[in-house]
Amino acid sequence: MNQDDSSHAGGDFPEIRQEVARLCSRYPGEYWRRLDAERAYPTEFVRDLTESGYLSLLIPEAYGGSGLPLAAACAVLEEIHRAGCNGGACHAQMYTMGTLLRHGSEVQKENLLPAIARGEVRLQAFGVTEPTSGTDTTRIRTRAVRDGDHYVVNGAKIWISRTEHSDFMILLVRTTSREDCARRTDGMSVLLVDIREALGNGLSIKPIRTMMNHATTALFFDNLRVPVANLIGEEGRGFRYIMDGMNAERILIASECIGDARFFVDKASRYAIEREVFGRPIGQNQGVQFPIARAYIQTEAAAAIVRDAAAMYDAGLPCGSKANMAKMLAAEASWAAGDTCIQTHGGYGFAEEYDVERKFRETRLYQVAPISTNLILSHIATHELGMPKSF
Ligand SMILES: Cc1cc2nc3c(=O)[nH]c(=O)nc-3n(C[C@H](O)[C@H](O)[C@H](O)COP(=O)(O)OP(=O)(O)OC[C@H]3O[C@@H](n4cnc5c(N)ncnc54)[C@H](O)[C@@H]3O)c2cc1C
Repeated sequence: MNQDDSSHAGGDFPEIRQEVARLCSRYPGEYWRRLDAERAYPTEFVRDLTESGYLSLLIPEAYGGSGLPLAAACAVLEEIHRAGCNGGACHAQMYTMGTLLRHGSEVQKENLLPAIARGEVRLQAFGVTEPTSGTDTTRIRTRAVRDGDHYVVNGAKIWISRTEHSDFMILLVRTTSREDCARRTDGMSVLLVDIREALGNGLSIKPIRTMMNHATTALFFDNLRVPVANLIGEEGRGFRYIMDGMNAERILIASECIGDARFFVDKASRYAIEREVFGRPIGQNQGVQFPIARAYIQTEAAAAIVRDAAAMYDAGLPCGSKANMAKMLAAEASWAAGDTCIQTHGGYGFAEEYDVERKFRETRLYQVAPISTNLILSHIATHELGMPKSF
C-alpha cells in the first residue's frame, strides 16, 4: 500500500481508492457467486487485502501498520463494496484491533499488533451478542471466574462472525454478576482468546447458515481456561472498552453501505441506459429515471454524514450520535438503492448472474447489525432530544 497516502489526511484518499479498485477487479462477480453458493470464505481475497496492507492500515507505524486515519479505512471498505465485493469477511480486524490498541497492555500490543500487521495472525472475531440477552448487552451471561492465573469461562454467544477464520477473538464476559454491581454496565471484562488453543479445549464453534454468505457462528464455552495475562485493561471495565470501539465499527460499516449503494446506483443507471423496451431505453421513462436519481441523492446525503462522522472520530471528538446517524442513513440508502436496482432490472434483477440479488441480500444485514435501527432511533431520541429512556 502507498504510505504517501497519509498526506491526504481529511481528504478522499484517491490513490488508495484506485489501488483497492484494481485489487477488487481480480475478484469479479463469478468469484463471489461461487462462494455464495457454497457459503465459503473468500480466503484469496482476504489474503490479498492483508498482503497489500489494507487490513492493518489503522495500526500505528510503531507496531508495523500504516497509521492512517479512520477515513482511509472507510475509503477502502467503500471501494470494496462499490466493486461488488464484500468486506464483511474481514472488516472486523480494522476495529477489533482498536480495543487492543487503546486498552491493551504494552506486552499484549507488542505480542500481537506487529504480527497482525505482517499478516501472520488474524484478529477478526468480536464476541458480544448472546442468545438470551440480544441487544441488552448488560444482561450477558457468559461468565469468567478467576482460578489462580486463569479465568474459567462458561456460557454461549451467538452470531459471532469469522471465528473459524480468525486466530484471536475479543470476548466480552461477566466477571461480576449484574446484581452485585452498582451500575449495570459494571462487572464486565474483555478477554483476548487464542482461538487456536481454545478450540476443542472448552470452546466449540457451530456455523450458522444465513441468507447471505457471512461466516457467522454460535460459540459454546465449557470451562474454557483463559490466562489472566489475556485480560484487556482492568477487570470490570469491559463494557466501556467495547463501547469505545463501536463508533469506529459503525462508521466503517456505514462506508460499506455507501459502497453498496453506489454499486446499485451505477448498475441500475447503466442497465436503464442499455435496456430497450417499447423501442427506447427504459431509462428514458421518468418512472424508471426518478427512483434511480432519488437513490443517488439519498446515497450522497448519507455519504456526507459518514464523512463527517469519520472526520469527528479522527479529530478525537465525541461522535456517538453522528456514528449512529451515519450507520442508519447509509444502511437505509443502500437498501433503497438495492430495491430500485432490482426494480430497474425487472426479472433480471432476480437472476444470480447479475449480482444484484446477492448484493441485495448482503446489504440488508446492516439495518440489524452491528446495531439495529430502533436502537439508533432510541439513542438519538434520548441523547440528542432529551426524551426519557424506554429501557
Ligand atoms: C449475520 C450477523 C453477523 C453478526 N456478527 C456479530 C459479531 O461478529 N459479533 C457480535 O457480537 N454480534 C454479531 N451480530 C449480532 C448483531 O449485532 C445482533 O443481531 C443485533 O445487535 C441485534 O440483536 P438481536 O439479534 O439479539 O436482536 P434483539 O435484541 O432480540 O432485537 C430484535 C428486534 O427488536 C428490536 N428491539 C429490541 N429491543 C427494543 C427496544 N427496547 N425498543 C425498540 N426496539 C427494540 C430490535 O431493534 C430488533 O429489531 C451479528 C448478527 C448477524 C445477523
